[in-house]
Amino acid sequence: MSLFAWRAPELRRFDRWATPVLAAVALVVLLGETLRPLRRRTRPRTERWPRNVAVAGPSLLLLRLALLPAMVGLAQRGRSRGALARVAAPARLVLEWLLLDYVAYTWHRLLHAPLLWRLHRVHHLDRDMDLTTAWRFHFGEMLASIPYRGALPALLGVRPGTVLAYEALFEAGTAFHHSNWRLPLALERSVVRVLVTPRMHGIHHSDVRRETQSNFGVVLTLWDRLHRTLRLHVPQQDLTIGVPAYPEAPAQSAAQLLCLPLTPLRPWARPDGTVPDRQRPAQSTNWRTSPMLLSCPGAGMAGRVLQP
Ligand SMILES: [Zn+2]
Repeated sequence: MSLFAWRAPELRRFDRWATPVLAAVALVVLLGETLRPLRRRTRPRTERWPRNVAVAGPSLLLLRLALLPAMVGLAQRGRSRGALARVAAPARLVLEWLLLDYVAYTWHRLLHAPLLWRLHRVHHLDRDMDLTTAWRFHFGEMLASIPYRGALPALLGVRPGTVLAYEALFEAGTAFHHSNWRLPLALERSVVRVLVTPRMHGIHHSDVRRETQSNFGVVLTLWDRLHRTLRLHVPQQDLTIGVPAYPEAPAQSAAQLLCLPLTPLRPWARPDGTVPDRQRPAQSTNWRTSPMLLSCPGAGMAGRVLQP
């Protein structure tokens, strides 16, 4: 049995149903962010989109030709052996989905460690966020994720069909939370109790380091709450998106971005040496009665109410 299950029937089924579903999600997100933008654009779309699509091309290709076949191939081997194989059907499915989303959360945290940050910074360097940011990953990040996102669920017995169904949700969630779509604040405050939203993930793309080191979730906000990495108390109008050491000039080409992992890491500071910061939110006295599930001292005691 090959590691890459290129001919797996599950993959063919995935192509048939997930492609139109994800295209529809992308269209809805694009309409939403065009009609009701959340943050003011700093660069024109005509400058960013060709660059983002050029970086995304090899990455999406490897997602379909390497990461997904490897995830399925590994899952085929582990489906009857892992610990989850002994769990009864409905509970197994719930545990599989939770596990896959937790693996995505922990993988994202690893991407912010120095070694993998070399790859992941290509995504974070974008000075605005929209649907195209959701696809702008270095292709090396796809390859690097195979041993972790592929092998870990397989070892625990997640089935190939569940892996692919979650992957569709992962892609839809990524498109949604990277979008520049201004949802009604009350609605987003309700949604963010369970799901990662555009305002929440916008904070993850802030140029303030402690804000980038928060909100790692992909689909569920549960993991950020449990690990106390949730941070909601930053108004979107106060955000500067990007990485301060790379004030991306229009001259920064897709070719330069693709070669970026080979260049040394830079300190988290602007080229003039100043470090972006923000006054921490005042300590809230009623954080224990906050509607959020758990406190998150890492984000400040007042960090749990989503701001406009
Ligand atoms: Zn990130």
